[in-house]
Amino acid sequence: MKPLNADLHCHSSVSDGLLAPADLVRRAHGNGVELLALTDHDEIGGLNEAAAEAANLGLRFASGVEISVSWGDDQTVHIVALGFDPTHTPLVDGLAQVRGGRDSRAMRMAAELDKVGIHGAYAGALKYAGNPALISRSHFARYIVELGHAKDVKSVFDWWLAKGKPGYVSHPWATMADALAWISGAGGVAVVAHPGRYRLSAAEMAQMLSAFKDLGGIGIEVMSGSHNEEHVREYAHLARHYGFLASRGSDFHGPGESWVDLGRLPDLPADLVPVWTRLN
Ligand code: AMP
Ligand code: MN
Ligand code: MN
Ligand code: MN
Repeated sequence: MKPLNADLHCHSSVSDGLLAPADLVRRAHGNGVELLALTDHDEIGGLNEAAAEAANLGLRFASGVEISVSWGDDQTVHIVALGFDPTHTPLVDGLAQVRGGRDSRAMRMAAELDKVGIHGAYAGALKYAGNPALISRSHFARYIVELGHAKDVKSVFDWWLAKGKPGYVSHPWATMADALAWISGAGGVAVVAHPGRYRLSAAEMAQMLSAFKDLGGIGIEVMSGSHNEEHVREYAHLARHYGFLASRGSDFHGPGESWVDLGRLPDLPADLVPVWTRLN
């Protein structure tokens, strides 16, 4: 049987993507996606528009959100939630609380960037974000490209915004326990996003995945726009080891800003159980 072309991780302009939710859904449909989840950062405000366009097109759609979680010694881990009730109050309130920290973090980032000669970054990033509660490093990156300090968003992270670089400030996001409680309470499933991106030792990764599993997490992204072939082998192995369901998501942010387009990832390794078997 031909595997389902599911894409369960992408961003619209409601967070740090470039396309409006309906445009993103049209692009996914045009690319042959058969099941789509929109997973904006800490925000579900794009789901209604996306779901309506998916219904118009006859495209299967799942609710999604990518929650920023603080883990261990100042690590950030992203948890993708899928198939939840987007009106569940603890989830709605919890996400609002996570977003509530973004504005003050952005001001601290701008102050650090100012010290290294990048001026006006708060206003510059806000211009791209639109809403102070959604301001992200991606918006800073677009502003720094606009200033001509870097050729593209990727290099801005390498020089200024990645952990250890001058514009990086540490920030307390949600706890793993809170994020998983919001997701389970809302009837959704929790998936570890792009594990290949975390700078965790093997032992730290094992600790993180065990804690995630103990708190009710059931899935891990194996196919991700952030993963190379070695990551795919490694996280397929860990999915088997922990008994996690496997997810597939491009993490598409927009044309020209992403490694891979919507629905254009390889299929999951055939022996893994896809996480969409748990979605209606
Ligand atoms: P934030 O949630 O504000 O910390 O921003 C994180 C976002 O920055 C991610 O979701 C990506 O969209 C983007 N990002 C992080 N690291 C990189 C990178 N190395 N290259 C390009 N974009 C990145
Ligand atoms: Mn992003
Ligand atoms: Mn992420
Ligand atoms: Mn993402």
